[in-house]
Amino acid sequence: MTRRQQIIEILENQKATAQYLANIFETTLKEILEDFKHIEKSIKPKKLKIIPAYCKSCNFVFKERSRVSKPTKCPKCRSEWIETQRFYIG
Ligand SMILES: [Zn+2]
Repeated sequence: MTRRQQIIEILENQKATAQYLANIFETTLKEILEDFKHIEKSIKPKKLKIIPAYCKSCNFVFKERSRVSKPTKCPKCRSEWIETQRFYIG
């Protein structure tokens, strides 16, 4: 099974951050995001969905920006307790 197939299997069963996948496959975030692009094409009609990053302190939801950038501070309450955006296939 290729890495992309394994990623598909993981994301069909759980929600995961790109960093988590990078750790599992011992690769870089960049590689994982590259995989995502291909995965999006190969899983149709299913979709790679994103749960946006949010502030665990006040529940402020960050707009989907780049897939890599992780907000460091909440603009509303200034907390740094941020949950990174997560991905899943649905
Ligand atoms: Zn906040």
